[in-house]
Amino acid sequence: MANPHPRVYFGDRFVDAEEATLGVATSALLYGLSVYTVFPVHVDGTKRTAFRLRDHFDRLLESCKIIGIDQFAPDWDYDKFVTVAKRLIAENDPQSDVFVRATVHVDASIPGTRVRGCSVKVSMFVYDAVPIVPQDGMRLKTSVWRRIPDNAIPSRAKVNGAYVNSVLAKQDAIDSGYDDCIFLDVNGHVCELSAANIFVVRGDTLITPDVSFDILDSINRRTLLTLAEEDGIRVVERAVDLTELYIADEVFVTGTSAGVAPVTEVDGRLVSGGTHGPISTALRKRHTAALRTDDVHGWVTTLS
Ligand code: PMP
Repeated sequence: MANPHPRVYFGDRFVDAEEATLGVATSALLYGLSVYTVFPVHVDGTKRTAFRLRDHFDRLLESCKIIGIDQFAPDWDYDKFVTVAKRLIAENDPQSDVFVRATVHVDASIPGTRVRGCSVKVSMFVYDAVPIVPQDGMRLKTSVWRRIPDNAIPSRAKVNGAYVNSVLAKQDAIDSGYDDCIFLDVNGHVCELSAANIFVVRGDTLITPDVSFDILDSINRRTLLTLAEEDGIRVVERAVDLTELYIADEVFVTGTSAGVAPVTEVDGRLVSGGTHGPISTALRKRHTAALRTDDVHGWVTTLS
């Protein structure tokens, strides 16, 4: 767990973290009606860079569009998002890598279960970049909870209320002595973890569920697909059966707060002999490099 750094952007102002509070009667609180993204900022002395900031902003806009939050787009564009991120970093002056969480909260009070025309408040805060899963080999458990189908709460939208599903599954995994969960969809196909996407290596092929399997269209998933293709690795996006994980040569996960992290056990079965596999190790290195100094893809934005 990590606390927000002292200065927070909240509703067009920079305030102290304890002043950034939402009312008890807002839809954000009553219904989980808010959308968000978390992007990483790499700190190298006074140089701070954000990774794929434009993609994070675009996904925030898309999440609003899907949910029907229509009071964000008229007031925000990418330039404003970058300006706020730059000032947030300047105000907090982080000395090591951080994550930034940007949220669009529906702050209308008791409007009933409606969204169109409801007012919003935007927040952005910084916290220490502590990974949410072990980086040296994690143990996963298939969840007793199924992933919410896209036609119930859209997986493509990063909507706060949907994370109750992730909390149930992750807590169940932790209570059972595991590090995180594997969500299956209603048909039993592999989706993702509580807050990270999953990749499987079988022979020379890298396999991951395609975006129609009730997963988040994750920015790091897209990044890994690009990096793998550049490295000449055969990549397939398709349905993945749970039993394929049991017999995989390698399994690893990715996400902003997960990095690229190897899986060494699934449901009590060793994966990759319980060690790091060569493809996940290579992609982890490439991903770390991309996060810091990418001049090929245009993925890095200088904030200071
Ligand atoms: N799936 C879920 C459910 C998530 O919450 C996250 C974290 N944002 C991810 C996958 C990874 O997404 P990203 O690579 O965009 O951080």
